[in-house]
Amino acid sequence: MSNGVRGNSDVVVLGAGVVGLACAWAVKREGITVTIIDRDFEGDRASHGNAGGIGVTESTPITMPNPLKLVQMLTDPLGPLGLRPAHFVKSFPWFWSLMLASRPHRVHASAKALASLNMRVYDDLLPMLDDIGAGRWLYQRGALVVFESETSYRAALSEWKLRADLGVEFEPLDGSEIKELEPSLAPVFPRGLFLPDWSHVADPKRIVEALRSKVTEMGVTLVQGDVAHVTPHGPRNVSVALTDGRSLNASRVVVAMGAWSARIAKRLGDKVLLESERGYNTTVDAGDVSLSREVIFSERSFVATPLDIGIRIGGGAEFAGLSAAPNYKRCDALLTLGQRFIPGLGDKNARRWMGHRPSTPDGLPVIGPSASHDAIVYSFGHGHLGLTQAATTGKLVAGILGGAAPGVPLEPFSVKRF
Ligand SMILES: Cc1cc2nc3c(=O)[nH]c(=O)nc-3n(C[C@H](O)[C@H](O)[C@H](O)COP(=O)(O)OP(=O)(O)OC[C@H]3O[C@@H](n4cnc5c(N)ncnc54)[C@H](O)[C@@H]3O)c2cc1C
Repeated sequence: MSNGVRGNSDVVVLGAGVVGLACAWAVKREGITVTIIDRDFEGDRASHGNAGGIGVTESTPITMPNPLKLVQMLTDPLGPLGLRPAHFVKSFPWFWSLMLASRPHRVHASAKALASLNMRVYDDLLPMLDDIGAGRWLYQRGALVVFESETSYRAALSEWKLRADLGVEFEPLDGSEIKELEPSLAPVFPRGLFLPDWSHVADPKRIVEALRSKVTEMGVTLVQGDVAHVTPHGPRNVSVALTDGRSLNASRVVVAMGAWSARIAKRLGDKVLLESERGYNTTVDAGDVSLSREVIFSERSFVATPLDIGIRIGGGAEFAGLSAAPNYKRCDALLTLGQRFIPGLGDKNARRWMGHRPSTPDGLPVIGPSASHDAIVYSFGHGHLGLTQAATTGKLVAGILGGAAPGVPLEPFSVKRF
């Protein structure tokens, strides 16, 4: 790692989460000089502790729940949705935009755009994982969605029908088929769906570390520093100032700072609606529990992933901003839920975690140039799907910088949509 700032790079990537690293990897492969800046390369960010799912079937955006469900969710202090009142007032424009984006025609448009990324995920992800020596850490065993009642299964079918129209494959299962696939689950699920195209990784942190080590080996310069601001001076001349007074120059800058990206974009004159959608999990030793694939508990909005480092029980969407202290009681509540539906699950070596999903109201990432300075390229806002879409985003960003045809329409991801 470079302590001082050395020379100029063609491209400087801001942020070394999975998205920034995948961008650095893809851009460097084009023969371009790359520097990547992060205030804490080893630090615990969304990319390190997420659920590890390659959720290519998640092609419908998160929407505003109906009023009754919303009240039910908000009155449960440790339920799947948390909203601190003071934060709601501050982020009202985001929630208003979420409401508008929840109208059927907008959901269809977002779903189509999400599917355009998700349908090509493996084409981009598999070569990247192979190149960084992480191919063996991808488990292509599908995923299982389980429903506690026939009623909620039927209610979910319209969303699954929309996904099917976009090319998502799934197979309906009954209770005995669920038991056969995952014998460790409590026998309380009359209905389920098998998602053959889903996969999960051994440990998302390992993917980040493998990417970081690979880009270093490829000659990407790592600079540790806290980015203060970015100033474009001309079409191919940008400076990046760090809070300690150092600065770097580059021809182009990629902003990939996850949930922290909006401040930089706003200072560049781009309006962005981005919220930290805080998610929690607890990882415990698997013990006698054996799950083969990720399980998605539909009504309760949580998942269980069998990682190499234990079973991770996670979920929740808490809106409280970037600086409020985590409420780890949410981790305990998630573990209790996990133990209820996976009866053999204990609490040995329980590790609690919170991370900031970088979420936009329409559920789409921001990928593409700044509205006013095309030397700045945005690459953030991947919400629930940053691990899934990182390699594809990297490929698209490398294409944008190199002037190549993107292969998917990029308009839906433009920052201009805000
Ligand atoms: C509970 C939970 C479960 C999830 N499960 C999944 C899943 O199963 N599958 C999936 O695909 N996705 C999942 N996600 C989402 C995924 O983790 C994120 O979308 C993804 O990690 C975002 O990556 P990123 O690189 O954009 O951001 P981050 O990982 O947050 O990285 C941003 C980087 O920018 C750096 N940075 C920020 N500000 C500055 C600054 N001023 N100066 C220097 N550096 C700065 C930070 O240090 C950080 O390293 C989950 C997220 C959560 C919270």
